[in-house]
Amino acid sequence: MAKRCPRCSLINPPSAQRCECGFDFRAEPSEVRHELERQSQGVQGRIVSGALLFGFGLLVSAIYLISGAGPVIATGACVTGIALLVSGLRRRARLEETRRAIFEPKQGALPEARVIREER
Ligand SMILES: [Zn+2]
Repeated sequence: MAKRCPRCSLINPPSAQRCECGFDFRAEPSEVRHELERQSQGVQGRIVSGALLFGFGLLVSAIYLISGAGPVIATGACVTGIALLVSGLRRRARLEETRRAIFEPKQGALPEARVIREER
């Protein structure tokens, strides 16, 4: 079975002992869990800072608007915040997929399709 790296989510051939990122596939399940945990904390940080940055951008824009200084929009903060948020959410989805592929291989797969014919 192909191996999915818990660190970078790269799919490696079954014979691989190490991922391109350096993760050792001979690691104990507890180490794999630990690695996934660490990755998900990093992703969480990315999502939170993206949301904060976006909120900050909106706040600055609102202050400019309210103070009458003109319709200034803090584009940089808003765009960077959204980019961080979106990439964080995507990475989180991929991590979740990786975790499931490693620890719950059967639940991740779709059930086999069956042809059902109704008798009349
Ligand atoms: Zn890797």
